Amino acid sequence: MLANCSESLSALLEGKRTLTTYVPPERASDSFTCPHCGVLAAQRGSAVQIIQGSSFMGFNVLGVRQCWHCKNFCIWWEDQLIYPIASEFPVPNEDLPEEIRADYLEAGSIAAQSPRGAAALLRLCIQKLCEHLGYVGKTIDEATADLLKQGIPETIVKAMDVVRVTGNNAVHPGELDIADNAEIVSTLARLVNVIAENRISIPKKVGALYDGLPESAREAAEKRNAKVLRDPKSSA
Ligand SMILES: [Zn+2]
Repeated sequence: MLANCSESLSALLEGKRTLTTYVPPERASDSFTCPHCGVLAAQRGSAVQIIQGSSFMGFNVLGVRQCWHCKNFCIWWEDQLIYPIASEFPVPNEDLPEEIRADYLEAGSIAAQSPRGAAALLRLCIQKLCEHLGYVGKTIDEATADLLKQGIPETIVKAMDVVRVTGNNAVHPGELDIADNAEIVSTLARLVNVIAENRISIPKKVGALYDGLPESAREAAEKRNAKVLRDPKSSA
């Protein structure tokens, strides 16, 4: 059990796996990650008949599934997903706060038609995420410095600098940048997820594993921490 926990933690911390399980939508599957809401949910299937005038044109050509979570539909023509339009937009992190998740999904829904609009929404997501993490009233530059002090990986810090600079040094709600393109949109979406994973999902997961340790082990660890914090030079 502990060996499994430790392997799982190492994989998480090394970024070898994410907490978000993505199951691609398939017509024959009873559950997959919904392209509308991003939740891995059961999908109710329906049979569809095609009738033109009074003539029966086909059965089973169209496939429909409805998400139990958001009630939206996915539609296939034979085995090709035709609605919603297939997109490479990453699935949102499961722990994103609801308001940020809504902006993120809206960005995904317009990314193909309007990269500029999607990028503006994703920058807004990053700003709101920084506020959610306690960096209220700070610029992205100041929030990045605080995240670095708290031990966020340097690669994320560099990515945040890319966001700041490509956004013409401004990350304000609704602001557009003519340089935004599909690549920047993809980077911004990944950045939202990686910050959420690092600052929300991993602490949550580690906290749950830690709480599952025997009480005596937690007490010993807490005593050690208190001692080290009182006297940082001690070897605990
Ligand atoms: Zn859904």
